[in-house]
Amino acid sequence: MPPPDDHSAAQARAAIQTALGQIGFCLPGTITIRRARCGKPRCACAADPPSLHGPYIQWTRTVNGKTVTRLLTPAQYQAYAPWFANTRRLRELAAELQALSLAEMARAEGWAKITPGTPAPPRTRPVRGPNPNYPKPPKTPGDQPA
Ligand SMILES: [Zn+2]
Repeated sequence: MPPPDDHSAAQARAAIQTALGQIGFCLPGTITIRRARCGKPRCACAADPPSLHGPYIQWTRTVNGKTVTRLLTPAQYQAYAPWFANTRRLRELAAELQALSLAEMARAEGWAKITPGTPAPPRTRPVRGPNPNYPKPPKTPGDQPA
């Protein structure tokens, strides 16, 4: 594939900008859906086979450097799933625009290529004990699971 000329780069940029303009609301953070044991020995979740509690839909994000988790109801999750998808799309489009810009800079400067930086790996949460995320009493009425 030949390097893009001005015209094709401009077309690609316009396509990305059009897609960016179609993105709606974007929510930060990640959704984790899990089932959990409560730790009570006679509960069904301790049986064999276990009947675990949940599912719990956890929305985790960073606020002022701290990890904040809120439980979403299934209805909330369904309602806002497109907003999380929009964030993923926004990141994809930003990456595309950066790659295109790097290629365009290399072309304009006559450089063979510019190696794009690699994004930081996603933050992973350590796996804790057997009862890591059993819901605590909600702080606000909106936190209650369904
Ligand atoms: Zn239980």
